[in-house]
Amino acid sequence: MTGAAWFDTDKVFIGGRWQPPAEGGTLPVIDPSTGEEIGAIARGTAADVDAAVAAGWAAMEGDWGRAPAVERGRVLARIGALVLDRADALAEMEATDVGKPLKQAKADVVALARYMEFYAGAADKLMGETIPFAAGYTVYTLREPHGVTGHIVPWNYPMQIIGRSVGAALAAGNACVLKPAEEACLTALAFADLAREAGLPAGALNVVPGLGAEAGAALAGHPGVRHVSFTGSVRTGAAVQAAAAANVVPVTLELGGKSPQLVFRDADVEAALPFLVNAGIQNAGQTCSASSRILVQKDRFDEVAEAMAARYRALRAGPAMADLDLGPLISARQKGIVEGYLGLAGAAEVIAAGEIIDNAPKGGSYVAPSLIAGPGPDHRLAQEEIFGPIQILLPFEDEEEAVAIANGTPYGLVASVWSADGGRQMRLAKRLRAGQVFLNNYGAAGGVELPFGGAGQSGHGREKGFEALYAFTSLKTVAALHG
Ligand code: NAD
Repeated sequence: MTGAAWFDTDKVFIGGRWQPPAEGGTLPVIDPSTGEEIGAIARGTAADVDAAVAAGWAAMEGDWGRAPAVERGRVLARIGALVLDRADALAEMEATDVGKPLKQAKADVVALARYMEFYAGAADKLMGETIPFAAGYTVYTLREPHGVTGHIVPWNYPMQIIGRSVGAALAAGNACVLKPAEEACLTALAFADLAREAGLPAGALNVVPGLGAEAGAALAGHPGVRHVSFTGSVRTGAAVQAAAAANVVPVTLELGGKSPQLVFRDADVEAALPFLVNAGIQNAGQTCSASSRILVQKDRFDEVAEAMAARYRALRAGPAMADLDLGPLISARQKGIVEGYLGLAGAAEVIAAGEIIDNAPKGGSYVAPSLIAGPGPDHRLAQEEIFGPIQILLPFEDEEEAVAIANGTPYGLVASVWSADGGRQMRLAKRLRAGQVFLNNYGAAGGVELPFGGAGQSGHGREKGFEALYAFTSLKTVAALHG
């Protein structure tokens, strides 16, 4: 048994049953707060993916494929209720596995339940349309599930990403094969067990933990998978898209970003401050929609920099269960990547840093949150996704320059504008390259109803809201000639 888990963590979940992986291997579960091994998960391989895809198709041809939309909604609602019943265990499991502070893990539990509620309610409201056409015809559209869909999930927000991806796919009537990240997959397994308890028919959801190069690659390129949904790095996303392309299968890619917040001279800085900082340090900066660039109009640059610096100096990092502002990063490897980026800044350019508490375990992957000013918009620190608690401040002269800097990376996930000028808000909402634009806020509290996804190297396709349901269906046009 591992941590707060109530199930065997070293199994794969296929066809409604827990079973050992075909090749019998395991991978360690590491608590990033301590660096200690606290359990094991299954090392699923291509043979398990084959079995999971076959179980998915059996479900599509059986009870799950025949279940009316209202029944699909009811089972999702029951899963959501069970998620809330087990909220404490799930939050503790996630905090231990990912290293995120307990209250952030609890927020993820609530978000997972919200996705289940939203897609439970949406399942029987996904409709086609009738199309006025030539005399003697009746034409209508049907939204049909793809069949078996693949879901490759990263380690930073396992519960939220499973909720938005698997929740929408099930609501639309697909069967899912889920490959969680090898660094953090306990809550994916817990989710499968809750789905089983809620009465989800066998095979509608299958979970194959394992390495990306083994189970992940096998799923992305499996000829029996009809849609692949991936969240993670650009490099792996491109490999997943290439693997799926060999089978001519659609993909949804969500690949992170370098998301800016634009602070104009007429902004309410007091209101903006918590958003400016939290959007950079939440989950220790390991958030696809983290705001890693803060653009400030020159005449208020020093004031905003000093106000943010004061907040940074008060930030504390420590073990997830201590529930401070930040936990550790996911792994020693990720800590190494982030420290490499920090090393690119001159000593005087780190204008403020938080602290790692004294008694933080030495084996934990802690990095002090750091605020940087000095390097320009073309510097690597201002261009590349760091995925750690680092924000960079960039001054701008006017709206033109702000837009040029904001749009001047290969990414385009989200952006925000802080300004009292309604005209500017509307102009910039159009001009900023991003899948979501926030006006005088950041993140819209993560609203599950709001379509989400990127432009450029942030990916393509939309998750969340009704848009995800469209992505998980194939539209069929029926034209009847009846005279
Ligand atoms: P990754 O993209 O390699 O891993 C994400 C998921 O893809 C995991 O489940 C992994 O097992 C799987 N995977 C890996 N190789 C695969 C392959 N060849 N085929 C199919 N699936 C495969 O990310 P990572 O190595 O964990 O992190 C590296 C960097 O990616 C981070 O530093 C960060 O910049 C970025 N990242 C972004 C997000 C995001 O939410 N956008 C999430 C995690 C990591």
